Order: sequence, then C-alpha cells, then structure tokens
Amino acid sequence: MKKLFLMKDKISIVGAGLVGSLLAVILKQKGFNVQVFEKRKDPRKSEVAEGRSINLALSRRGILPLKMAGVYDTIEPYLIPMKGRMMHDEAGELTFQPYGKEGQFINSVSRAQLNELLIENAEKAGVEVHFDHKCTDVDFESSVLHFQNGKSVQSDLIVGTDGAFSAIRKKLQFTDRFNFSQHYIEHGYKELCIEPVDGKFQMEENYLHIWPRGNFMLIALPNNDGTFTCTLFFPFEGSPSFAELNTKDEVNAFFDKYFKDAKDLIPDLADEFFTNPTSSLVTTKCEPWHKNNTILLGDAAHAIVPFYGQGMNSGFEDVRLFVEMAEEKNWMWDQILPVYSSTRKKDADAISELALHNFIEMRDHVGDPDFLRRKKLEAQIQEQYPKEWIPLYSMVTFSDLPYSEALRLGKIQKKVMDEFLNQNEEINFSEVIARFNTLKKVD
Ligand SMILES: Cc1cc2nc3c(=O)[nH]c(=O)nc-3n(C[C@H](O)[C@H](O)[C@H](O)COP(=O)(O)OP(=O)(O)OC[C@H]3O[C@@H](n4cnc5c(N)ncnc54)[C@H](O)[C@@H]3O)c2cc1C
Repeated sequence: MKKLFLMKDKISIVGAGLVGSLLAVILKQKGFNVQVFEKRKDPRKSEVAEGRSINLALSRRGILPLKMAGVYDTIEPYLIPMKGRMMHDEAGELTFQPYGKEGQFINSVSRAQLNELLIENAEKAGVEVHFDHKCTDVDFESSVLHFQNGKSVQSDLIVGTDGAFSAIRKKLQFTDRFNFSQHYIEHGYKELCIEPVDGKFQMEENYLHIWPRGNFMLIALPNNDGTFTCTLFFPFEGSPSFAELNTKDEVNAFFDKYFKDAKDLIPDLADEFFTNPTSSLVTTKCEPWHKNNTILLGDAAHAIVPFYGQGMNSGFEDVRLFVEMAEEKNWMWDQILPVYSSTRKKDADAISELALHNFIEMRDHVGDPDFLRRKKLEAQIQEQYPKEWIPLYSMVTFSDLPYSEALRLGKIQKKVMDEFLNQNEEINFSEVIARFNTLKKVD
C-alpha cells in the first residue's frame, strides 16, 4: 500500500554536520517534516569556527548524493580538482602519480565551508535547524529525544548523524545485543598551513602533495584562498614521534631532516607546531545501527581513519542508499531500518579495512620502486582492458561499486599481480585478465 501524507511523518536528525545536513535536504524535498538539532552554535554566525580547519577530498561517492539533492551546483565553485599525488622525496625531487585515467580527479574542499553550504541548502529547502541543541538522551521505545536545554521532541524517525562520538550511539550501547568497538591507531595528526605569496599558491595546486617517510608522512591539500592545509601523520610515541619534539629547535631540526622543501614554505613553522593541537585517529564499529525507529548514519555508525579520503564520501553514500531503499520500501521505517542496517554494514567494514591499509601504502609504498612498477603495469593493463581491470583505487574513488566488492576484487588483483611479477618473464596482459576472471568466479 502506498504511504500517504508523508508530510505528517516527523523526522528528527541529530547533528547538522555534513551527513545530517545533506540528509535533511533530501528528506525535506521528499515531503517530510524535517528538523535538525545541532549542539554547536550556527557556524555561519560564529566568529571563530568551532569545527576543525581541515579540508577533505570529495569524490564520486560523495558527489552523487549531492547531485541527488540538487545542491552540487552550489558546491562545485568551491572545489579544487586534484589530478593525482605529487610526491616529494627528501631531496625535494617531485614525482607525479595520477589517481586514475586522463580526466579523473578528486576534489579538495574545506570541511567548514561545505558544512555551511549544506546547512544553507537545508534551510532554503525549508528544514528547521536548531543550533545550541545538544542531545543528551533518547528513548527508543517512545522515539523521544532529550536536549541539554530541557527540551524534548517526539518523532516518527530519529536519525543519529552526530559523528564519531555520537550521543545516540552511546545510548544504543546500553541496549541488549548491541556490539561496539573502537580502536585508536598509534599515529596522531597535526595541521600546519602554507600561506600564499602575493595571493598565489606556493606549490602546484591541482595535486595532493605527499611526503612519504616510511612510518610517517606529511600531506598537503589546496584551499581556494591560496593556502595549503598540511597534515603531519606521526606516531605519538617512539622515535621519531610527537613525544620527541618538545622544543622549537627539535621541531625545526626534524623538519629540516625530513621535510626541508615544505619547511621552507612555512616561516613560522615551530610556532604553529606548538599552537595547533595534536589530534588522534579512531576507527569505530558497531551493530546493529538501528533500534525501533532510530538509526545511525555517517561517522556515528562507522568512523574510519582518513587515509582513503572516504569518511565523508561513505557518509554521503549512506544518505543516497538509505533514501533509495526507503523510497523503494514506500517509507515504511520499520521495514527499512533493519534491512538498511544489515546490508550496508559489510561495506562500512570494507572501507574501514581499506582506509587502514591505505595509510601503509601512502606513507611507506608510494615512493617504493616495486610499488611504482605495479602501478605502471596496472595502468597499462587497464588501458588495454578498461572494462575487465579497474585498479582498486579507482573502484573505491571513481565508481559506486559496493566497497565490499571493491575490496574483494582488489585482493584478487593483488594475488594475480604477485603471481605474474614473480615469474620473471615478460607479462602477457591477456593471461593476466584470464587469471583474474577465473579467480573472480572462485574466490
Ligand atoms: C584529518 C581528517 C581528514 C579527513 N579527510 C577526509 C577526506 O579527505 N575525505 C572524506 O571523505 N572524509 C575525510 N575525513 C572524514 C570526515 O571528516 C568525516 O567522515 C565526516 O565529517 C563525517 O560526517 P558526519 O556528518 O557523519 O559527522 P561530523 O561531520 O562529525 O558531524 C557531526 C555533527 O553532530 C554534531 N553533534 C555531535 N554530538 C551532538 C549531540 N550530542 N547533539 C547534537 N549535535 C551533536 C556535531 O557538532 C557535528 O556538527 C577526514 C577526517 C579527518 C579527521
């Protein structure tokens, strides 16, 4: 039976971050009565942004839902395309590695700017966004949210998009048979800024710059004000580590040794190093993502480390898949929530695994001759067999194949490459494809 009077369904979204704001736009367009509750003040009115000053890589999985919401046109002008990785070795020599085929790129965007644009779009669509509303409790039986300011709100559907340390998820942890795990990696991160000179970028802007150094790395993404946001991913303990850098001299000596060309572009590097916070990186997993009429999406359901640039993209993809499934099931929340929660989980687990693995690739392998040879070979195979062989990075970044399938195929590709590279003979690409196709059916 077709559900009538969608507008009567009251939907409350907790968290006006990236995922919550986008979901609000789409559900409002579908005709629902949508309210968003955000613990922060309105970022458009605060003088100091409360969110982190990070920029993010936006790619296909994130772009599709933005287009579905009809808001991509308002965001596109703020994007800076990045065609590939620009690797900096210790001598300052540069090597370029494209992300995909000619014409394929990812996009650098300021998280704060994107968030403000999405909130703006939500309000334009007619969504009520309530700032200064910190959710403190939820009653899953009556679908009632409670806020720090004493307010309580009853809804037909509650969506927790309140990020990696979700209050809704914390409450789920007290329910029966709810599983939760969190894991901090041994590395933290610190942001630094390369300012423009005469209003111009100090490095080529259409690349993600990367200084891979074995157990640690520095990366830099361009911003549309001419700056680069640099992020140092570095162990908290050990040698070298954050624990060893306690004075300006130690910081300067460390950067002189490992990142000389970057250091030369940041005159007040040591001051910035001690002013900016050192933050940690966590992976969280939980299941089920729902209880009665409440569901988690985005980081609240699955926070991942940032090394595949897929945290936000996967959260936006959650929105698209959730809405598509809801529409297909005629907005019957009791039928949608359990199915969505169980079908999407394997993909969240897959991107979580891929993100952790990509850290090793970025910091350790991207400058390695064997790795570069594999990449080159893969590109050649793809050129000859574009439909049969799509490199793992492209499956994750430039397609909307389920993450779990990309992970499965990527593992088979690695196995096939290992076999052929060990043969010491000239590699016959048609044999590579034949072997890949055989294993694809079996594994
Ligand atoms: C260093 C770094 C680099 C990254 N790079 C990338 C990248 O390149 N590409 C990419 O796709 N992803 C990247 N990510 C991940 C990305 O930032 C997150 O996946 C994304 O922000 C998740 O969006 P979200 O809306 O689920 O959560 P958030 O953006 O965290 O939003 C949650 C919102 O909920 C609000 N909130 C929290 N608690 C409450 C409460 N109790 N009541 C009401 N409101 C509440 C918060 O204030 C916030 O506004 C990166 C992350 C980090 C840390």
